[in-house]
Amino acid sequence: MKLNSVLGQKKLTLSFEVFPPKADSDYESVKQAAYRVAKLHPDYMSVTYGAGGSTGGSTIALAEGIQKEHGVTTIAHLTCVGATKESIQNALGDMKNAGIENVLALRGDRPAWMKEEPFTDYHYASDLVETIREFGGFCIGGACYPEGHPDAKSKSEDIKNLRKKVDAGCEFLTTQMFFDNNIYYNFLYRVRSAGIEVPVIPGIMPITRASQVDNAIKLSGCNMPERFKNIVDKFGANKNAMMQAGIIYASEQIIDLIANGVTNIHIYSMNHAQVVKGILDNLSEIRKGAW
Ligand code: FAD
Repeated sequence: MKLNSVLGQKKLTLSFEVFPPKADSDYESVKQAAYRVAKLHPDYMSVTYGAGGSTGGSTIALAEGIQKEHGVTTIAHLTCVGATKESIQNALGDMKNAGIENVLALRGDRPAWMKEEPFTDYHYASDLVETIREFGGFCIGGACYPEGHPDAKSKSEDIKNLRKKVDAGCEFLTTQMFFDNNIYYNFLYRVRSAGIEVPVIPGIMPITRASQVDNAIKLSGCNMPERFKNIVDKFGANKNAMMQAGIIYASEQIIDLIANGVTNIHIYSMNHAQVVKGILDNLSEIRKGAW
């Protein structure tokens, strides 16, 4: 199923992200973790891609397995890092053969181990979007950054570049994580003012371990509200309490988004079925949609 047939409609969708293993030897255990998420019946699942192609084959294999064995639609991520025109054609051909109909087109970041220039044939995600559109047969998504992409000169420059990505054929956008919904609402206002009309799906990251905080800030440059810092400060040392508090914080963000008319929400679930289940349990009545 192509995601453009369900996104941007009135029906609520909750999607969950999983990642493939870096080492082939871990494939079975990671697959089982991703399948446990699939068994909870999300509306769709996204499977990340290790920039530089480190997870290329397993991204496609995992996405294919989730669709075939659990009937959950997937979107496979793909990046420009180290990619050539030929490698992208091959990856798209493999996806098509695997029955994958949705691609999240990303630039990616230069991995620390990569010595050579990472962006030769493809410099920006919009270049990749163009190739995927020309290839045909895929619904194409892209990423966006409510707090601005770290490389962007300014937020307005970033939104101008986002417009180029959408004009190239990107049919929906998923946001970087944020921990204060007002940041998303302000961003949506600026995106719509720039004439970008595609669905902008908020990405929610449940922080369920104190050790995730620094990494989340480093990866995304996102702002941590005092309210959340206080939660980590109080419960961070107790594994179970932090898990519960993190699930509730993410659930509250989701409930607020739904209450403000957002119908598609993406959750960075990081292969944790327990976190997915906790969020779904908190939304059990809300998901019935009888309001
Ligand atoms: P782009 O859209 O290319 O933007 C990158 C920068 O270039 C921005 O500053 C933008 O303003 C600027 N820019 C864009 N177009 C132009 C232009 N034409 N001219 C000048 N400047 C331009 N990384 C992975 O490695 N694997 C994943 O699976 C993965 N999944 C992700 C999923 C989501 C939802 C998000 C939000 C991020 C994900 N990332 C992933 C991280 C992502 O690859 C990085 O954030 C990367 O730095 C930017 O990727 P992008 O596709 O947003 O880049």
